[in-house]
Amino acid sequence: MTDRYCLIGNPVAHSRSPAIHAEFARQTGQQLAYETCLAPLDAFAATVRALRDAGYRGANVTLPFKLDAAGLADTLSARASAAGAVNTLSFTDAGIAGDNTDGAGMVNDILCNAGFAIEGARVLLLGAGGAARGAILPLLEQRPAQLVIANRTVATAEHLAATFGGHGVPVSASAFTAVDGRFDIVVNATSASLAGALPPLPPALFGAGTLALDMMYAADPTPFMRFAGDLGATARDGLGMLVEQAAEAFFVWRGIRPQTSALLAAMRAA
Ligand code: NDP
Repeated sequence: MTDRYCLIGNPVAHSRSPAIHAEFARQTGQQLAYETCLAPLDAFAATVRALRDAGYRGANVTLPFKLDAAGLADTLSARASAAGAVNTLSFTDAGIAGDNTDGAGMVNDILCNAGFAIEGARVLLLGAGGAARGAILPLLEQRPAQLVIANRTVATAEHLAATFGGHGVPVSASAFTAVDGRFDIVVNATSASLAGALPPLPPALFGAGTLALDMMYAADPTPFMRFAGDLGATARDGLGMLVEQAAEAFFVWRGIRPQTSALLAAMRAA
């Protein structure tokens, strides 16, 4: 019997998730189908319940419903609770379980695909929205030397720094222009790239040993990737994170971890 999953969002037609999960299913021999589901903006909860009642086993959730999904789930994983957002729902006999695989996907991309160590690293996180919030706990679990959160609205970064203190790693907040010194890893979790914009970052943040990861994925390098690359950094887009968060969701649902490197290489080549 084929188990059914889907991606709920608005819009969703552009998504690469069905192709990614189809490849994971083929590779692992799992009988599953993965579709997209366009939910009306005012009917997310009704859409989820209809899918569950129709026998779906789970769903991924994307913009603009990740916060709604956290509110809808009967139980939340620790990382979904910390993120305040859910991108993976599992429909079980015990209810709807919410998880968040975005941060774990980002960490796996940094460690496995980019080949950069997070332990002991100076890490700068740009942005304080949903994606940034989901990234913080998985980053702290890797024991960086320091985490600085910089945001356009500094008060939001300060709130996150206060919320995520106490994990044994110094966490501080900053304005973009006030960030000081060279970083080993800079993650752009702002949505500036979506608008073709670049936060006002001091060039001294980046050097030859820096990984500059933009969470956005696009055919062409983003302004952030170009800026960091021109300063000698290794610049990557968010395609690896997308594939890795999908692999983590596949593991949550099926208990099997698919291989990602060949798929990622094929997607980049295409
Ligand atoms: P949110 O809307 O929740 O947060 C947006 C953040 O970007 C805020 O911190 C906001 O600052 C900041 N921002 C917006 N515009 C600008 C600008 N022009 N200059 C500087 N800062 C700006 O978005 P998300 O957190 O959900 O998404 C952020 C990015 O991450 C998107 O590009 C999204 O596509 C990507 N993403 C990628 C994933 C992947 O798998 N690769 C998964 C999830 C997200 P302020 O607080 O001041 O408004």
